[in-house]
Amino acid sequence: MIGNVTELAVPRASLGEGPCWDAEAGALYWTDIPAHRVHGLTGDGIHTEWDAGQPVGAVVPRAGGGLVLAARDGFLAMDPGAGSLSMLAAVEPDIPGNRMNDGACDRAGRFFAGTMADDESPGAGALYLLAADRQVTKLVAGVGISNGIGWSPDNRRMYYIDSLTYRVDVFDYEAGTGAIGNRRTFASLGAGEVMPDGLAVDSEDSVWVALWGGSEIRRYAPDGRLTLSVDIPAANVTSCAFGGPDLRTLYITTAAGPGRSGGALFACPVAVAGLPANPFRG
Ligand code: ZN
Repeated sequence: MIGNVTELAVPRASLGEGPCWDAEAGALYWTDIPAHRVHGLTGDGIHTEWDAGQPVGAVVPRAGGGLVLAARDGFLAMDPGAGSLSMLAAVEPDIPGNRMNDGACDRAGRFFAGTMADDESPGAGALYLLAADRQVTKLVAGVGISNGIGWSPDNRRMYYIDSLTYRVDVFDYEAGTGAIGNRRTFASLGAGEVMPDGLAVDSEDSVWVALWGGSEIRRYAPDGRLTLSVDIPAANVTSCAFGGPDLRTLYITTAAGPGRSGGALFACPVAVAGLPANPFRG
């Protein structure tokens, strides 16, 4: 199912997060949250980084050009050519101890991203949706650490991780409106040292989950069965994303910590293609 996991020649992050493959640019983007950095790596190996000016948890391409960030203060547009930033929509401006974390866009181009407290207070965060008209809607309250988000190939379910629940959950999802409901457990890790963090969905509707504290990526079948475990030489595995021209490369972000390669960006070939990432359409 997968080939060798290799470290890519890019700077190691303190807390790598939010990998996203931009098919149009042929590039991977990811963030280093406490370093306020957005990183880019083209398919032919050219690395670029930008200063987001604040902690940044996720990055997605924007239809028509540029990038959109889920950052401390809210959703920001970034022009990578000029390096300039502008606020699209503030999120939780009344809660200075919170910041935005991981996120992803659905196929309609709505940006789903959540928040967390800097001190990881349980229930202090929420999951939000940024619509094309820049309206922000709170979808889920009482979130601990808002993390991985992805949609099933049939576009009828949305996978979601609040790391502090130690679960991957699934919602019924309405593609026309972006509404979610009927939240239930998809896979549970059980409370302990290992927390689920980011996720990516493949074309067979299996869910690849990064394990913080677990030195591992797991693949779960559509019925929630664990079907594959991939060892990663870094304790804190934060997220993963499919990329490359055929979406058969799994890119893996990590954070500093125990393990010989904490903070490295890894890649490995995968037999099954991932689903493409979607740009923000607003
Ligand atoms: Zn994360």
